[in-house]
Amino acid sequence: MPTASPATLADRRSTAMRRIKRRALTCAFLAGACTLSLLSATASAQSDPQVLNLYSARHYQTDERLYSNFTKVTGIRINRIEAGDEALLERLRSEGRASPADVLLLVDAARLARADAEGLFRPTRSQVLETRIPAELRSADTGQGSTWFAISTRARVIVVNTTKLDHALVQSYMDLARPELKGKICTRSGAHPYMLSLISAMVEHHGQAKATDWARGVVANLARRPRGGDTDQIKSVAAGECDVALTNSYYLARLMNSSRAEDRGIADRVRVIWPDQSGVGTHMNVSGGAVLTHARNAQAAVRFLEYLASDAAQIMLADGNNEWPAVPGVKTSNRALEAMGSFKRDALPVERLSRSQTTAARIIDQVGWR
Ligand code: FE
Repeated sequence: MPTASPATLADRRSTAMRRIKRRALTCAFLAGACTLSLLSATASAQSDPQVLNLYSARHYQTDERLYSNFTKVTGIRINRIEAGDEALLERLRSEGRASPADVLLLVDAARLARADAEGLFRPTRSQVLETRIPAELRSADTGQGSTWFAISTRARVIVVNTTKLDHALVQSYMDLARPELKGKICTRSGAHPYMLSLISAMVEHHGQAKATDWARGVVANLARRPRGGDTDQIKSVAAGECDVALTNSYYLARLMNSSRAEDRGIADRVRVIWPDQSGVGTHMNVSGGAVLTHARNAQAAVRFLEYLASDAAQIMLADGNNEWPAVPGVKTSNRALEAMGSFKRDALPVERLSRSQTTAARIIDQVGWR
C-alpha cells in the first residue's frame, strides 16, 4: 500500500485548504449550488479514521440500511456522495490527489475496469475478499491483490407482453433482431452502460461483425425512438406500447415486490425470459467497489468492502434491491427472485466486458441506437 511522506501530506492539506478558500468565494456567487463540493473539500483537509468518505453510483434507496448497519458494526461513520458513474469518475479525475473519497461503488463492470485502467484504484490484499468474491467477479490479481470487487450481480433479461407476442420467438438476445419483431421493441439508449456492456458481451461471444448486424436488426425493430430507463421499458411493454424490451432483473423484481397494487399489476402483465439458456447463458453485470488510489482512510475502505462481502450485507443487497449476492452460497429470501426462478448465467468474467466497450460504442453510433 503506498504511504505518503509527512511533507507530501502537508502539501496536500495546504493545497486542499487553498481550494476550499477558492470554492468558498465561488459559492458566495452561487449560493447553495456547491454545498456538497465545499463539504467534500473540507473533508479532504482532515482525515478521521472513524469516518469513511464514499462516492456511490448505486441509486437505490434501500442501501441506507446497508450503510447504517456498517456504522453500527464498526463505529465508522459514512459520508456519502451519490451521482451517476460518469459524474463520479469525472469528479475523481478533477479532484486528483486532493480527493476526499476513500472508496467508490459503481454499477457496471466495464466502468469499474475503465476507472482501474486510469489508475483511480489501489490494489487490495484481503483474504476475506479473495475467498468470498469469485475470481470472475473481480479484477485480475495485480500481484498486490485485485483492485475492484463485485458486491452484487444482476441479469439483463427480456420482458414480453405474451398477450401480443409468442414468447417462443424471443429466447435469445439474437432473436431481438428477427424480422418478425418489426415495430415491436422498446429500448433505452444503447449508450447507457447497461446496454454498452450487453453489446460488449455480444462482441465477445459472436465477434464484431455479427454483433453489428444484430444491433442494426434491433434498431430496425424499434416501436419508438430509444428513451427512458429500464422501468419505463417494462411499463411500455405492460401498456402494450410495444411487445418486448430489455431490463435489468432487479427493476422487474422491484415491481413484483412493490407494496403498490399498480406496480404489481404492471409486473403481472409481462413475462420474463432468461435469454440464451440453450447458448452461453444470460448476460450478467455487477455492482462493485474499490479502494481509491488517494484514499486517506484505506483501512476503513477495505473494512467496508469486506463488510459488503459479509453474509449480512449480501442478504441486505439481495433483499433491499432485489439483486443476487456476489458471494456464492449466501441464502436470501426474496419472493420476487424466487418467483423468477433459476437460470443459466453467462460465465464470461465480468472484467472482459470492458474489452469491447469502444467497439460497442462505435456499433451504437453506426446503427443509430441513441
Ligand atoms: Fe440500475
